[in-house]
Amino acid sequence: MPEILILGASYTGIPAAHRFLRALPDHKVTLVNPSTDLYWNPAAPRAIAKDHAFSENNDGLFEPFLPAFDAYPKERFEFIQGTATALDPVAKTVTVLADREIVLNYDHLVITTGARTIGDTPFKQLGTTEETRKALAEYQQKIQAAKTIVLSGAGPTGVETTGEIATLFKGQGKKIYLLDPSEGPLPMLKESVREEARKQLESLGVTVLMKTSVTKEADGKLELSNGQVIEADLHIPTYGLIPNTKFVPKEMLDNTRSVKVDKHMRSIEYPNIWAAGDVASVKIKSLLSATPMLDAMTANFISVAQGGEVVKEYKDDMTPMVVPIGGGFAMGTGQMFGWRVLGLLVWLVKGRSYFIGKAKSTALAKEITGGKV
Ligand SMILES: Cc1cc2nc3c(=O)[nH]c(=O)nc-3n(C[C@H](O)[C@H](O)[C@H](O)COP(=O)(O)OP(=O)(O)OC[C@H]3O[C@@H](n4cnc5c(N)ncnc54)[C@H](O)[C@@H]3O)c2cc1C
Repeated sequence: MPEILILGASYTGIPAAHRFLRALPDHKVTLVNPSTDLYWNPAAPRAIAKDHAFSENNDGLFEPFLPAFDAYPKERFEFIQGTATALDPVAKTVTVLADREIVLNYDHLVITTGARTIGDTPFKQLGTTEETRKALAEYQQKIQAAKTIVLSGAGPTGVETTGEIATLFKGQGKKIYLLDPSEGPLPMLKESVREEARKQLESLGVTVLMKTSVTKEADGKLELSNGQVIEADLHIPTYGLIPNTKFVPKEMLDNTRSVKVDKHMRSIEYPNIWAAGDVASVKIKSLLSATPMLDAMTANFISVAQGGEVVKEYKDDMTPMVVPIGGGFAMGTGQMFGWRVLGLLVWLVKGRSYFIGKAKSTALAKEITGGKV
């Protein structure tokens, strides 16, 4: 039976496994991931600031994905809890660190190991669920205790996390800075959206320093590019994504350490290797772009595995973006099809709950963000 090996079980790896199991009944699928839960990380900006933000112990943040695989015969699906540590694309083997080191053979490899954030903040899954929960609890305590907090990087993660902390501790004497290396928060969006984000953050008491970044950090002191020095109890970097590709040979990676793929989501070097999601060499990395990447990758993979040709191209286009700012009524902003999104809509669709009600159905592959199962 041909072996499909999928590395990484999250927004792309889980639905890919189900699609292959349904469409290719003569193939076996092996899925490798460090945890057995999907982490609903879009809600991380609120969860990092506050325990019980969504439910007792924030349980809805972590949803088991294995039960949905009970639907397939045992000989066709295997899950290995572990981390890929080495890939040999010529020998077609992957070394995995599970409870011991094992070497897996494959016929087809799918890399969906995503990306992590700088400083290994729990904005993404950090190994097991227990490790991610522990990191969230540590951040909650540090945020609670800190008098001065600096968040550096004013993309959506920086703006959302700053908004959550500022709303939670409004009027309690915390000094909160958001450093923005560009001309204003949310540099990928239009001017009016960025201006709105800045105004809303300032209304919550945040000091937004534009065209400013950290140049040196030592002994709790942050030296900034504008010459200012801030004594910070806590610095949270919120910029940059690092693809999880340590195990991938260098020749397969681009200069951002993403897996080089063509417009069909197939490795440039090895036709039996595919990648999708945050790990792939695309410009836009989001849940909304992961879905069309997944659609192209799985359609092409299935067609090729059935002896056909690639059938679908992925277009690396800007996706809509809604950015809650603290979750208060009508707080937040965003951009959709070139238009600024009103705070009321952002609050209604995302700010109240960060879509956490979708975590379970996503883990069980009953739903895919912005697409069809
Ligand atoms: C704070 C935050 C909020 C966000 N909010 C939104 C939003 O509201 N809307 C939106 O569209 N996008 C959002 N995004 C982007 C979104 O989270 C990503 O695009 C999405 O997670 C990508 O999914 P993925 O399956 O490619 O990888 P990931 O979700 O990164 O998952 C990768 C999986 O692979 C596993 N893995 C890693 N290394 C290995 C290895 N060596 N071996 C085996 N398994 C491995 C990981 O543990 C993980 O389970 C947000 C991102 C952040 C950081």
